Amino acid sequence: MGTELNIKVRSNLVNKYKGGYPLITKQVMDHTGSVEEGMLFNLVDEKNSFIGKGYYGKQNKGYGWVLTKNKDEKIDQPFFERKIRTAIDKRKSFFRDEETTAFRVFNGEGDGIGGFTIDYFDGYYLINWYSEGIYTFNEHVITSLKNLVEYKAIYQKKRFREDGKFIEEDGFVDGERGQFPILVKENGANFAVYFNEEAMVGVFLDQRDVRKTIRDKYAQGKTVLNTFSYTGAFSVFAALGGAVKTTSVDLANRSLPKTIEQFSVNGIDYEAQDIIVEDVFHYFKYAVKKNLKFDMVILDPPSFARSKKFSFSAEKDYKNLLKEAIAITENNGIIVASTNSASFDMKKFKGFIDAAFKESNSKYSIVEEFSLPKDFETIKQFKEGNYLKVAFIKKLKG
Ligand code: SAH
Repeated sequence: MGTELNIKVRSNLVNKYKGGYPLITKQVMDHTGSVEEGMLFNLVDEKNSFIGKGYYGKQNKGYGWVLTKNKDEKIDQPFFERKIRTAIDKRKSFFRDEETTAFRVFNGEGDGIGGFTIDYFDGYYLINWYSEGIYTFNEHVITSLKNLVEYKAIYQKKRFREDGKFIEEDGFVDGERGQFPILVKENGANFAVYFNEEAMVGVFLDQRDVRKTIRDKYAQGKTVLNTFSYTGAFSVFAALGGAVKTTSVDLANRSLPKTIEQFSVNGIDYEAQDIIVEDVFHYFKYAVKKNLKFDMVILDPPSFARSKKFSFSAEKDYKNLLKEAIAITENNGIIVASTNSASFDMKKFKGFIDAAFKESNSKYSIVEEFSLPKDFETIKQFKEGNYLKVAFIKKLKG
């Protein structure tokens, strides 16, 4: 261990890391000389006593992750295998569930190693790598999977820049190449999933419980507007739950064929649904002009988005987005407000909701709340890791 780099943590941060905070922040790296992606180091306090061992890996969130607080624990293949085995054991009930064949198997720091995730799609394992640093350990992770599970194939996606750009590859690692789309199940519904197109595979698994709730408790007999609809996953569940009509709005051209496909693999006549390729902020204006109102409006914007005319940041603009939705929601209708922004918490999100209704002279009550589902394991020392916040808001009369 003598050759390992020691990084001294500023005194005001020592307790945080001793308490198990896993992310290596900019402050920690500030006075450190050159470090390479994947390099292991010890965090130490002012007296050089050991706090934890981590690796360097620059990603959008920070500069790497603490891996262990045990000085003697080696960061080797068995280390990765132990963590992944524990993660798999925690998901036993998911592996047994025949109605749901797509879920997260390993959720980064929530399962003990930040910087990568593993998702399961009906026998296929997809690894997402979020830094070059964690990718230097890729053989350890792949060997662990080979030792621990049976699979049709392992795929991977590098979600970091190499030489300043994202390298496009099909990501096949081992097993037998899949025929895309592969069809997976979620609470009995179908999704078509592609590993070979772009970063996103066609469905965001973290919204599973929200989709089920829309289908089972809220959709029957309702008109539903799904904004930022991507492949229309919420619309599919609303239609399966008996919605009279769904309207899906997304700016991306691909959303039209993708949404048609998701309806079709569920036996839903897509021609009875509206699928609109348009800026949602433009659509809101159109809806107001035409006096359109919906029983349910779903808002699931990205944390940041820029279109030709508008730029959107969840933290700055969510309140106004809600006001647009309130204006076209029927009395006693439901607004499903969702955000995956890690830069604010549920309390602040509820503040946006409250302000939006006040400024709209409208009343409301929150009838359901969601954060990440069980397979997206999180740890209490890293609250930002539980980024998902969803509120079902009933717009009350008067
Ligand atoms: N709600 C979706 C996921 C949304 S991903 C689901 O549950 O599957 C974010 C989507 O917002 C992307 O598909 C992107 O094309 C779309 N988007 C971003 N800015 C937009 C805008 N101004 N108008 C419409 N769609 C937008």
